[in-house]
Amino acid sequence: MKLVVLKFGGTSVANVPQIKKIALKIKQEISQGNKVIVVVSAMAGVTNNLVDLVKSTSDTPAFSEYDVVLSTGEQVTSALLTIALDNLNIKARSWLGWQVPIISDKSYGKAIIEEIKTNHILEFLKTNQVAVISGFQGISKENRITTLGRGGSDTSAVAIAAAFSAERCDIYTDVDGVYTTDPRIVKSAKKLDQITYEEMLELASQGAKVLQTRSVALAMKYNVKLRVLSSFEDLPGTYIIKEERKMEKSEISGIAHSLNEAKITLSGVPDEPGQAAEIFGALAKYSINVDMIVQSSSINHEATDITFTIPESDLMTAESTIKKIQKKIGFRKFITETNVVKISVIGNSMRTQSGVAKTMFETLANNQINIHVISTSEIKISVLISSDYYELAMRSLHSAFGLDV
Ligand code: ADP
Ligand code: ASP
Ligand code: MG
Repeated sequence: MKLVVLKFGGTSVANVPQIKKIALKIKQEISQGNKVIVVVSAMAGVTNNLVDLVKSTSDTPAFSEYDVVLSTGEQVTSALLTIALDNLNIKARSWLGWQVPIISDKSYGKAIIEEIKTNHILEFLKTNQVAVISGFQGISKENRITTLGRGGSDTSAVAIAAAFSAERCDIYTDVDGVYTTDPRIVKSAKKLDQITYEEMLELASQGAKVLQTRSVALAMKYNVKLRVLSSFEDLPGTYIIKEERKMEKSEISGIAHSLNEAKITLSGVPDEPGQAAEIFGALAKYSINVDMIVQSSSINHEATDITFTIPESDLMTAESTIKKIQKKIGFRKFITETNVVKISVIGNSMRTQSGVAKTMFETLANNQINIHVISTSEIKISVLISSDYYELAMRSLHSAFGLDV
């Protein structure tokens, strides 16, 4: 008997009628003779409301309590879905993260899964029941509830699929697969039948929220058979695979955008060894992820500017951290900008094909879009632009790279 993991995102469990439909989908899977573990998100919008509740209670909540509040959304859906399954005479039980247990470190709000103990669930599955596990949550060794970062139910599902050596992990969502870019912004986006782990990892890490980045990295590490498909329509979805099976394909596989960026410029940084280490070391202490970095040596080797991007949510912490070391470093000004968006074009074939940068920059220039920062990797080029133009940039790049349907 095969074991499959089915994960349902927020819009898939947005209300009770929808939860009842999901229960029918699970019934179908069982009727094919499979054992099923289900992972659920909170109902759409619930986690955002919980964040607001915490914020309106305190500007400086204890992170551990913040996670206790945020984890409740998934508790509700795992039990509601179990009740809906019971209505269909399918035996099931809800499992919270701590009951499995899914053991994580204690970095609240972005906890890392360290281990999943499989014995309780394995015993339970022997009784031919469905395990409905609350996604997005774990428990630390200190016996505290943790959450895995926004979008973290994807990571719960893949980690569970890996721990239980599941046959496959199906991520049910509100689109029918992975597209060349966000189909809600670019109407001519094309659905992909398959995409490599590597390309999916870049797309996700550059902002395509259809899968949480960590879930793709985990699937790649443990060779989990991953598929993204629609909760609403019976369509085949997109397979995330190891290697591209098509002999030829266009040079770009997708375009991603990230709205939650903040740009920081430190002007007048003394042009001396050790300054960058000092600045980025200070940010690393607070686990602030620095993305794009631009610095060039000054002509007279006296002072230079360093520009970089971080998640907007880390801006306050970054500002206070860096201002604390302003005297020590001796830079002149701390300048921030938040109405910026990062647009990335991604494609494995970039390794061997030239001209991607030329097409990208020409297209942006033709649309009078100014580039603030550029960064590249082997299979990706990213630009930071004003948020006023990001939809125009995405649409024109999608068309310039021949991705339109
Ligand atoms: P869920 O609640 O099911 O986890 P999410 O909202 O997290 O769903 O992710 C699905 C959304 O991801 C889609 O509605 C779509 O707007 C967005 N998205 C961004 N980039 C892409 C892409 N390349 N392909 C498909 N969807 C994308
Ligand atoms: N409910 C969480 C969130 O909204 C986790 C998830 O949906 O994957 O981020
Ligand atoms: Mg999601």
